[in-house]
Amino acid sequence: MKKVAISACLMGKKCRYDATDNHNATLMSKLEGYELISFCPEDHAFGSPRPTMDLVQTKEGQKAISNMTGEDLSAPVVQYARDFFDKHTDIDLFIGKDRSPSCGVCSAKLYDLKKNLISDKEAGLMAKEAKIRDITVIDAEVFVIQ
Ligand code: SF4
Repeated sequence: MKKVAISACLMGKKCRYDATDNHNATLMSKLEGYELISFCPEDHAFGSPRPTMDLVQTKEGQKAISNMTGEDLSAPVVQYARDFFDKHTDIDLFIGKDRSPSCGVCSAKLYDLKKNLISDKEAGLMAKEAKIRDITVIDAEVFVIQ
């Protein structure tokens, strides 16, 4: 059976910044028969609801910056991702919620320090960790239509 790591909000967990979900019935029906392992780095690190954050290009690389305080929130997200993939070493596929600064695979928005949009094709911090580990990754919106 294929093991799929999947953003928990897509499965219906109310772990978005506003304590809602992104439940996707079409996606879930396509995944019948797969073993699903859910994750949500932001809920784990900051709880739900929580202030939003953006992916920002800094001199030290791409960081998750709080839209409320300007604080760099990257460390707990990256640590969660590392711990998750250290624990689950046999993931066949990573399905991330498109456009999320944590989970988006090829769809996260990247801003400069003045909040100008640089790109809308980036990997969020957790998806980036999956890529580093050579796990096959895909945005949920792409998986649904393929
Ligand atoms: S996109 Fe990722 S970080 Fe955001 S709510 Fe869904 S699982 Fe959590």
